[in-house]
Amino acid sequence: MPIYEYECRRCGHRFEYLVLSKTPPAACPECRNEDVEQLISAFGVSSEGTRQANLNQARKKNAAIHKEKQHEEYKQMLHHDD
Ligand SMILES: [Zn+2]
Repeated sequence: MPIYEYECRRCGHRFEYLVLSKTPPAACPECRNEDVEQLISAFGVSSEGTRQANLNQARKKNAAIHKEKQHEEYKQMLHHDD
């Protein structure tokens, strides 16, 4: 399944987005902006790429289960610091 990396043009947040035939356009999980730029995949390019790949694996499972809720889940994860 193709996962593309995007960068939000509004807040600069980078995120991966699983693109399926019926997937709505990618939107920033931080600010919900849909004006996002697709980046060239960095898979395996560096150690950071490896770490990203692991993140992608985890997120891919999450996305498969939650699909449309993935943005909400991610947002909650980011703000879960209390
Ligand atoms: Zn954003």
